[in-house]
Amino acid sequence: MERRKFTRSLTTSLGALSLTNGFGQSILSSQNKKLGIALVGLGNYATRQLAPALLTTKLCELKAIVTGTPSKAKQWKKNHDLKDHQIYDYDNFDTIVNNEEIDIVYVVLPNNMHKDFTIRAFKAGKHVICEKPMAMNAQEAAEMVAAAKEANRELFVGYRLHYEPHHRESIRLCREEAFGKIKFFEGGFGFRIGNPNQWRLKKAYGGGALMDVGIYVIQAARYTIEKEPIAVTASGFKTDLVKFKEVDELITWQMEFPNGVVANCTTSFSASTNHLYVAAENGFIRISPAYGYGGLGGHTRKYKFDFPQVNQQALHMDGISDHLVNGVSHLNTDGEEGLKDMKIIDAIFTSVEHEGKRILV
Ligand code: NAD
Repeated sequence: MERRKFTRSLTTSLGALSLTNGFGQSILSSQNKKLGIALVGLGNYATRQLAPALLTTKLCELKAIVTGTPSKAKQWKKNHDLKDHQIYDYDNFDTIVNNEEIDIVYVVLPNNMHKDFTIRAFKAGKHVICEKPMAMNAQEAAEMVAAAKEANRELFVGYRLHYEPHHRESIRLCREEAFGKIKFFEGGFGFRIGNPNQWRLKKAYGGGALMDVGIYVIQAARYTIEKEPIAVTASGFKTDLVKFKEVDELITWQMEFPNGVVANCTTSFSASTNHLYVAAENGFIRISPAYGYGGLGGHTRKYKFDFPQVNQQALHMDGISDHLVNGVSHLNTDGEEGLKDMKIIDAIFTSVEHEGKRILV
C-alpha cells in the first residue's frame, strides 16, 4: 500500500520531467529542432558533466564552444563534430550575436567571470544559463537579473537538483505537509579540497566553501521549507591559515524562517559532509548523500526512497529548453532564485565578519 502510494507520488512529482522521461509530446521534438547551446569555459564541469549530458538531451544540443585554449578547441571540434564557425574565444565571443544556431549561452567559468559573460550574452540576444553561484555578490546578481529584463531574455542558474527525483519528492512531501508542519532543517555540504593553487581558494575568483558548495544547502533549505529566511547568524572556522588565507574553510550558519522554523547548516573545504534532514511534526525526511551527480539515497520515517538515477544536467537543460519553447515551469531555477541565494550569502559573510552577529536578510 505504502509502496503504491509512493510510486504514484513519484509519477506526480516527475510530471514536470515528462518530456525527458518519454511521456508527453513537445513542439520541439515534433519539429525535430533542438535549441542550440554554447558552452563558455571548457573546464571540469563543462567537459565531464555538461558535454556528456548534451549527448543525451532531447530538446537542446551543443552548437558552439567558447574557449581560450586552441588545443581544447581542436579536441572538442573532433569529439563533438563542431565546425569552425562554432568555435569562439573570449575576445570574439560577442560575434555570437550573428549565430542563429545559438539560443542559450551556458556560462561555466570561474565565479568572478559570470556577470561579465552573462551580460555580454544578453547583449548578443541569447538566453543564459549561468553556473552557481551566479555572481560574486547580490549586487552583481541584481545587475544580471536587470540585464535579462532589459534584453527581454531569460536567465537561469545551474541548479540541477531541482530536477532530481529525491529532491523533487522531498519538496512534494514538505509542500503537502505529509508529516505535518516543518519544524527544523539540517544540512551540510563539504569536501576536502586538493590543489592549493586552484581558483576555488582565491578570493578574487569568488572562491571559498560557502560560494562553492554551501550554496546547495541554502538552496535545499529554501526549497524544502518554501519560505524565505528573515535572518542569519554565522561563524567561520579555520584550521589551515595558509591554504585558506583568502577564503572561508568552514562556516556554520543558522537561517531563521518565519514561524520559528530554523535551518542549521554547515559547509567546508576541509571536512566531508553531504546531507539534508527535514524534521516535521510527525516524521522526517533524510537525503544522504544529497548533492552529488548520482548515488543519492534517502528515506522518511516510514519508507526508503527508491528512485532511479537520472542525468541531472540533461534534465535541467531539457527542462529549461522546454520552458523556453513551451512555457513549462523551470522549477525555480531562474536568476531571481539565484539572487535570493546571493543575498543570503552576503548576509552570512557579514555575520562571520561580525563574529556571529544576527543579520537581517
Ligand atoms: P574549472 O576550473 O575546471 O573550469 C573553469 C574554466 O574556465 C576552465 O576551462 C578555464 O580554462 C576557464 N577560464 C577562463 N578564464 C579563466 C581564468 N582567468 N582563470 C581560471 N580559469 C579560467 O572549474 P569548474 O569546476 O568547471 O567550475 C566552473 C563553474 O561551474 C563554477 O562556477 C562552478 O561553481 C560551477 N560548477 C557547478 C557544478 C554544478 O554541479 N552545478 C559543478 C562544478 C562546477
